[in-house]
Amino acid sequence: MIVTPRGFVPLFAAEPHDSPLTFVFRGPKLLVRAQDAALPDVRAVEAMRIPEDRTLPVGRFHDAYVRAAWVEADVEPPGGYEFQGLRALFGRFDDGLLAVAGRAFQVAEWSRTHRFCGACGKPTHKVTGERAMRCECGHSTYPRIAPAMMVLVKRGPAILLARNVAVPPGGRMSALAGFLDPGESVEDAVHREVMEEVGLEVRDLRYFGSQSWPFPGSLMIAFTAEFAAGEIRCDPAEIAEARWFAPGDKLPDLPPAQSISRALIDANLPR
Ligand SMILES: [Zn+2]
Repeated sequence: MIVTPRGFVPLFAAEPHDSPLTFVFRGPKLLVRAQDAALPDVRAVEAMRIPEDRTLPVGRFHDAYVRAAWVEADVEPPGGYEFQGLRALFGRFDDGLLAVAGRAFQVAEWSRTHRFCGACGKPTHKVTGERAMRCECGHSTYPRIAPAMMVLVKRGPAILLARNVAVPPGGRMSALAGFLDPGESVEDAVHREVMEEVGLEVRDLRYFGSQSWPFPGSLMIAFTAEFAAGEIRCDPAEIAEARWFAPGDKLPDLPPAQSISRALIDANLPR
């Protein structure tokens, strides 16, 4: 599962560096060497002539300074390099480096999309010592993190898995998940989403864990819950199919090992 590795410390200000780890993003895609998915060396980064205000501190990982940068959509990669989606790097990067890449992406994407004030439209500037951008009108912005809940509903030894309408029949099934609405607690969102998506009441919520999921900026907060009442009735706008999997049932295709959804299911397999 992708989690922040030991040895990573976030930084809000640049540090002197000889050989930084540089994550260069073009939209959601990361610059890597084509042959082995290595990060670009200093020379390759310099050749791209990325403006200073598009390069941001991310942290320190063991002894290396980690920075993020972003380039416009029409920028071509230097020779021998290519832009790759982070999901395409699952299994090619180790999970610790993927977690750092996910952080770098969220910082770069925030920088790219908050250059101008959302209140008055004037250019913003970076605030020293904070992960923040401010406008002269007083409006400040911080990296966008969208909290989302995830819940695996259990009924005795059985677990409820659902297939999203975007996934074809026979495809991947997972726990229920959804974004929080302003004003909700995470628990409120669990009860609401389970009722909306499959028409069930649940009880005994138990916290499982959380994970930053940089597609593009979610914080997944995962629970288990016990079935309390109701009959499965799928919301046709979101859920194509939802059913109980009991001990001995053949499990469907499940989410990737890098995700907390898979960890949540694996920790609660029907048996
Ligand atoms: Zn403003």
